[in-house]
Amino acid sequence: MVEIAIPLLDSARERLKAVFGFDGFRGRQAEVVERVLSGHSTLAVMPTGAGKSLTYQLPATMLGGTCVVISPLIALMHDQLRSARANGIRAATLTSADADWRETQGAYRAGELDLLYVAPERASQPAFREFLGAAPLALFAVDEAHCVSEWGHDFRPDYRMLRGLMDAFPDVPRLALTATADSQTRRDVMAQLGIPADGLVLAGFDRPNIRYAIRLRDNPVRQLAALMAEQPGPGIVYAPTRRKVEDLAEKLGAATGRPVLPYHAGLDPQTRAANQAAFVASEEMVIVATVAFGMGIDKPDVRFVAHVGVPKSIEGYYQETGRAGRDGDPARATMFWGAGDFATARQRLAEVDEARRGAEIARLNALAGLVETAECRRAVLLRHFGEHPPAECGNCDNCLEKPGVTDVTELARKLLSAVYRTGQSFGMGYLQKVLTGSEDERVLQRGHDRLSVFGIVEGEDARLLQPVARALQARGDLVATEHGGLALGGSARAILKGESEVEIVVPPKRSTRRRGDSTPNPVGDPLFDALRELRRDLAIEGQVPPYVIFHDATLREMAAQRPASLAALGCLPGVGAKKLEAYGEQFLRTIARH
Ligand code: ADP
Ligand code: ZN
Repeated sequence: MVEIAIPLLDSARERLKAVFGFDGFRGRQAEVVERVLSGHSTLAVMPTGAGKSLTYQLPATMLGGTCVVISPLIALMHDQLRSARANGIRAATLTSADADWRETQGAYRAGELDLLYVAPERASQPAFREFLGAAPLALFAVDEAHCVSEWGHDFRPDYRMLRGLMDAFPDVPRLALTATADSQTRRDVMAQLGIPADGLVLAGFDRPNIRYAIRLRDNPVRQLAALMAEQPGPGIVYAPTRRKVEDLAEKLGAATGRPVLPYHAGLDPQTRAANQAAFVASEEMVIVATVAFGMGIDKPDVRFVAHVGVPKSIEGYYQETGRAGRDGDPARATMFWGAGDFATARQRLAEVDEARRGAEIARLNALAGLVETAECRRAVLLRHFGEHPPAECGNCDNCLEKPGVTDVTELARKLLSAVYRTGQSFGMGYLQKVLTGSEDERVLQRGHDRLSVFGIVEGEDARLLQPVARALQARGDLVATEHGGLALGGSARAILKGESEVEIVVPPKRSTRRRGDSTPNPVGDPLFDALRELRRDLAIEGQVPPYVIFHDATLREMAAQRPASLAALGCLPGVGAKKLEAYGEQFLRTIARH
């Protein structure tokens, strides 16, 4: 393995322009590419949208032999396949969904494949190992590599078997890729996959084009419809259950007139595949889905990701929201949460086995911290991943509209002692009646009007009871009982004893958000619109999603610079040799006509 870094990177830059049409590497891509080209095994941790796939696709076109890509989902592989082929890269997949096995195997044996995608279950079989021996290998690329670690949030036993395969080809370098890995998971992935300690390339986690917002859920259909009105492009809405998914998809479609489709494991496979395909191809569709959706999709032009209910962890949240704005254009990540979400999540933790429970509770607490914070959301997120971000980002709800913070320790103590004195079995509605001194029949019957907490909350404070209860639930200081009541938990006793304080964020009154600040596209410019239309026609003709032809950013450049020759068009970002040849003339003609 020779190390001549400079010429290697120079020729890599030439290939980058020729194959992908990109003028330069992004973030830490260059480092990863350089390591791969010089045969060093590497773990690349880069946020979604950073351009991980390029770090093996590009070397695959430069190195002798095939790059084997291990990827967890067929849909993801097929997506990648399409994009790679559109750039003229010789790629194939070997999955149960493929009919062209013979051709693929023949092409591999003949040394005619740059990229071969397989799933971990297949990759770990002895027969596959034997098959790989028939031709030279350039690289093993392991996508979603956090799946190899039990510390990760997405452990998959099949990933554990990959080590055997790779050890059988000790001279072939390994490139592990993931968007989410805390330091423990990172160390584990490197140990599991045999990557040396100096092989870590850790890119910043920031996704500056994503605007984070976390708000209380009052009327999800109205709230989502408002978000959709501000975001004309494709979007993903995550909902916790199949029933919610179905319900929201129907109501949102009716409320907005936009195409909205459901996606969850209960749909039959054909419908699911059809809905996903329609979403991938669309420039305006919203898909309402359970979290299972999205891992297999590489759609770069998703303009928003919304959560109705809380995700499982900050890692999960970051991964799911990371599906927005991969193309670098402005995008939104908006969560609509309710106190009940945390209560349900904490209840579920009771079923988790002892060994994992501690870690899961810590995950949930970190998430509650993000939801409840009055600080910059991005700063909280990035600190969670071990970074040292500036205190304000200017592109999240809390930075754009500073929320007020109120000390509610006294009120929290009143609420907690009411919970305690009524026997830790009543719900919030009942507790409110006791605290505000309602002469409710149930209260009187039980003699709760004689408790010291009866009627001790009045005026303004009464309105704060709900938000305080929510905050206490999010922190785990109030926990739901089996029968829907509330009981003390976490540090409730410390609060009661005056050893711990409680603050809540007072949400801004009404969203005063400007409209139309979300897309830099010159929509309404006749040339830009015509270019989009041409792209749509070509996409239908070629049966690929529009973004596989060109991204919006490339169309914007075309409209702004109006190139008049193939040479000029070829200089624009995102226009590689293959695409120039395939589409160049038609785009030039459209430009000339406007
Ligand atoms: P990841 O797998 O890290 O989430 P992708 O590989 O899907 O990210 O890349 C995200 C988008 O960024 C893709 O549409 C890709 O074409 C684009 N991209 C990647 N590298 C570059 C680059 N150097 N310059 C411009 N765009 C890039
Ligand atoms: Zn911020």
